[in-house]
Amino acid sequence: MKKNKYPICWAKENFSIKIFCSIPNIATGILIKADNAHFIVDPGDGILRDLNKDLKIKDILNISDVFVTHGHHDHVGGVWSLLTYLRVMNKKTPMVIHYPKGCLEIVHIYNAFMKVYSRSITYDIILREITGDKSFTSKKVLVKPFPVIHKEYLSDNKTTRQVPSLGYKFTFNNFKICYGGDTAYCEDLVKHAKGSDLAILEAGHDDDTPDDMHMTLSEANSIGRSAKEYFLVHVPEK
Ligand SMILES: [Zn+2]
Repeated sequence: MKKNKYPICWAKENFSIKIFCSIPNIATGILIKADNAHFIVDPGDGILRDLNKDLKIKDILNISDVFVTHGHHDHVGGVWSLLTYLRVMNKKTPMVIHYPKGCLEIVHIYNAFMKVYSRSITYDIILREITGDKSFTSKKVLVKPFPVIHKEYLSDNKTTRQVPSLGYKFTFNNFKICYGGDTAYCEDLVKHAKGSDLAILEAGHDDDTPDDMHMTLSEANSIGRSAKEYFLVHVPEK
């Protein structure tokens, strides 16, 4: 498959998404805008560079929510620098970080950050651990998290374990964006992608034989065809 050319953009009225990057093992970075609200999804390495190319400082300071699908480095590698940058730039409004229950990476990044900067932080950081699949609303965007299947190898390079992982469906003005994060083929993703205005689907498995970490190209395409439009991301480039 040929390389994606990033950024990938999509917009309907005042609802838009820009995927700055989604390359396995390197970095992900996604910006969602809904009217004046700005959300970040999976702030991987490079997120500050990409945000600064795209947004005015005042809009970066207004980012209200960060949505993390899981704790792998290519999805959270930019969290520390994002938190620090917002402090240096004097952010005043709170920021909520939504993350799957059990995602140790976010908890430890937050704890380390607070240990270093608690006396000089200018804004509230609210950690919101997502335990179920309940919907909630932020800035008039309806957010529906859903469980996905994503595993990682233990140190023997054979045994795998499930990583706390979520996909998210964002609905604004009746337009629906479904982002599966990193996932193997799973029924929850099938259900939420179906009929969405946009599905963003990873095709991270470079083999035709399905596994329990990433989707093959044909699995991702088969889900994508059930949405009105879809993008394939997280496609290996090497
Ligand atoms: Zn991953």
